[in-house]
Formats: sequence, C-alpha cells, structure tokens
Amino acid sequence: MAEKPPHIAIVPTPGMGHLIPLIELAKRLVTHHGFTVTFIIANENSFLKAPKAVLQSLPPSIDSIFLPPVSFDDLPADTKIETMISLTVLRSLSHLRSSLELLVSKTRVVALVVDLFGTDAFDVAAEFGVAPYIFFTSTAMALSLFLFLPKLDEMVACEFRDMNEPVAIPGCVQVHGSELLDPVQDRRSDAYKCVLNHTKRYRLAEGIMVNSFMELEPGPLKALQTLEPGKPPVYPVGPLTRREPEVGSGENECLKWLDDQPLGSVLFVAFGSGGTLPSEQLNELALGLEMSEQRFLWVVRSPSRVAASPFFSVHSQDDPFSFLPQGFVDRTKGRGLLVSSWAPQAQILSHASTGGFLSHCGWNSTLESVACGVPMIAWPLYAEQKMNAITLTNGLKVALRPKVNENGLIDRNEIAQIVKGLMEEEEGKDVRSRMKDLKDAAAKVLSPDGSSTKALATVAQKWKAHKNY
Ligand code: UDP
Repeated sequence: MAEKPPHIAIVPTPGMGHLIPLIELAKRLVTHHGFTVTFIIANENSFLKAPKAVLQSLPPSIDSIFLPPVSFDDLPADTKIETMISLTVLRSLSHLRSSLELLVSKTRVVALVVDLFGTDAFDVAAEFGVAPYIFFTSTAMALSLFLFLPKLDEMVACEFRDMNEPVAIPGCVQVHGSELLDPVQDRRSDAYKCVLNHTKRYRLAEGIMVNSFMELEPGPLKALQTLEPGKPPVYPVGPLTRREPEVGSGENECLKWLDDQPLGSVLFVAFGSGGTLPSEQLNELALGLEMSEQRFLWVVRSPSRVAASPFFSVHSQDDPFSFLPQGFVDRTKGRGLLVSSWAPQAQILSHASTGGFLSHCGWNSTLESVACGVPMIAWPLYAEQKMNAITLTNGLKVALRPKVNENGLIDRNEIAQIVKGLMEEEEGKDVRSRMKDLKDAAAKVLSPDGSSTKALATVAQKWKAHKNY
C-alpha cells in the first residue's frame, strides 16, 4: 500500500501576528513541498472571529480544527499577555492530544510546529513520535535573546534594566536592559517565569525556523547558526508575509481611496493588531499629522493606557473617532482617511500611492513594509518592538524615530517634522533608497534559488524522512 502523504500539524498561539506568518508557511509547504497541513487552534473565545475568517478561506489541503475554548475566569485582571497566550495552549493540551490522536490515525503526521510560546505542545508531539519544531514569528535578534536567556538569568542577579552595561545578546547590536522585550522587564512576574520556561524548552525542538533573512539581520543570524551542544539548528526562512488580498477586501474603501492619490504620497499609520495609544498621545498624533500637511491613511483605535489592550480582540470598543481633537476630521477631509480598528494592511503597503509607514514595528508589519520597500517611522509600543525599532533605525537605517519629550509624549511638532522628513526631505530619500535595496534582497531570498527557499527545503526534506517511531 502506498505511504500516506506527509502531514504537518501547526499549533498557533493567539494573535493574528502569529497566525498570519504561520499560514504563509503552510501555503509554502503545500505548494512547494507537497505536504498537507492541519491548524489546531487553541483559543479563548474572543480570539476567534478574525482567525476563523482567514482559516476558512484557505485551500482544502490546509485544514483547521478549533479546540474548545479555555477559560481564564480564575486569572487576576492584571495577568500579562504572555501568560495568557501560554496558558491558552497549556490548558488545551488534553483536547490537543485527542485531536492529534485522530489526525495520526488518518494521516502520516511528521512534525508539529508551534510559535513563540507554544512549547507545552511538544509533550503531546512526543507521545505520538512527531518531530517538534518552532516557527519563530519574531526577529533573529529576539530568538538570539531567547536562546541566551537561561544563561543570562543565571549570570545576572538584578533586574536587566538596572544593569550598568548593555546586554550582550550573541551577534546583536548592544541593547540596554530597559529596551528588552516587555515580559523580561520584571523578573518576579509570572510572565517572566513563563518566558524563561519556554526558552529552556526551546532546546527540545528538533529545529527552529525564523521569519528573517541574512541581509536583514546578519549579526544575530550568524550567531544563531554557530553550532553549540544542545542548540537546535536554526533556519532563516523569511520574510514570509501575507501576499494575497484579505477575505472581503476587494471593495475596500481604503484601497479605492488610495487609487485616487498621487504615487508614493500617502503615509500609512497603524499599530498592529492590538496597539493603542493613551488619549493625550492620540491627540498629539492627530495634530501632528494635520500639521505635516501630508496625506495619511490612519487605522484609529480607541485610546487606552495599556498599549496592547485589545490584543485578544481586534475591534475598538467605542467609536474611536469621537476621541479625536475637535474639528480634526473635517479639517483633514480629502487629505486624510480614517479607518476604524482594522484595514487590509498588506494590500495598503503594496499600493503604489503608499510612500511611508508609521508603525509600532511589530515584526509582521516590519516584514510587510520591507517586502514592499516602504520606509518607516518607528513608534514601538509593546512586546519586542523597541528592539525591532533599534534594528530598523540604528542598524539598517530604513526608519526614522521620533523623540519622546520630558513628559513621555511624542509631541505634535516632532510628529509633523518627522512625517515631513520621511515623505519629502533628503533624510527620507536616504531611508527610502536603503529600504528599496532591502526589498530587492527580500525578493531574492524567496526566489527559487534564494537562501530562504533553500532553508525551508532542507526542513521539508528532514520532515519527509522522519519516521514516527
Ligand atoms: N494587520 C492588518 N490590519 C490592521 C492591523 C494589522 O492587516 O489594521 C495585520 C498586519 O498586516 C500584520 C499583523 O496584522 O500582518 C500584525 O502583526 P505584527 O507582528 O505587525 O503586530 P502585532 O499585531 O503582533 O503586534
């Protein structure tokens, strides 16, 4: 009897920023390497709307199973996002086991792929002799920090932000402890313990794919590829970004509006799937955009003191436009377009009228901007975004970064100046030209002979040769 075709199980953790690149990975595995794929979705109810729509639009060779939602009723209100993301998988393990058992009885499941905080699922993979892999949806720099964290934790007694010297992450530009990702900022917190636990478990993976490429992050990638006992092989397979139009975006008002704007004239302003600004900052941003006299397309969310507050749900709770400065909407009509909560970002960035991107520097947003050659204004908010902003501004010089004033705000004058600088001044031209080079490099690594295509082919070959027992 012919052997069943190889099958991959993917267990994403909550957040569109994790799901979107995993879907791109799945598409490549199906189209280029003949795998079939099942997404097994651990979730907390509010995570479901957007992912369901995206997953249901995929071809039949990519299936999805939604596990029963977990409950967070017992968690304190101030539970950190990383803890919630991890617990979503941890509390779903028995259902994951049943789903995988069924899948294994019907197909030849060779690998189980998790993202940043999904390593608890490895225990279930081991029960079925399925190879455990990580797809790291963030930077090579963050991965280098993660693999180094267990050692750093042993070496340093104080909070990392109180260290006198910068943190020496292997292969990376020097970063002050205060600029490391959020969950490592308080070492007594559950979020830190949870991240540390995952980073220790990274060594259980048979391989780690990372959504990056050499020209983008040469230092950390070279360090990651040096062999070390117990360190899994690292495969740079990026940039895997959304290419096709989003479901239902055909008639989208933003795209129609962009069609009517001059080439490269519009600044796109968006803070990812969950980023929000406090009220005073939202105000300054609006007035700064107005003062810049540039065209803009802005995805506006209700103000909030917590930068990633609606992470588990992509919709603003209230009417976001009512929070904007009085008269702003009328005064910028025609030159500015406001969109509530969500816009088809990948298509906006690839539109010829888009000439700049003011972004929270989430890694998917960054990769989408790179893939389209759109220069950026770096406005990091949460997670590892400050580290990403450093790479984009100090390292690659493909982004400008506004200064925060003594009150902790980026004021309207600074915003107006930086927006003008990017869109029409000399410094913007340099940044734009370097981003264009990066765009060409990104296209090359994904071409049939490119390094990322070859790295994924190596992983695919290993999977095809995998024997379950
Ligand atoms: N996104 C989108 N429309 C929006 C906001 C976000 O399509 O209005 C997509 C964006 O294109 C990217 C993802 O959501 O693929 C956000 O991921 P990222 O890593 O940039 O940030 P996160 O949301 O994880 O902070």
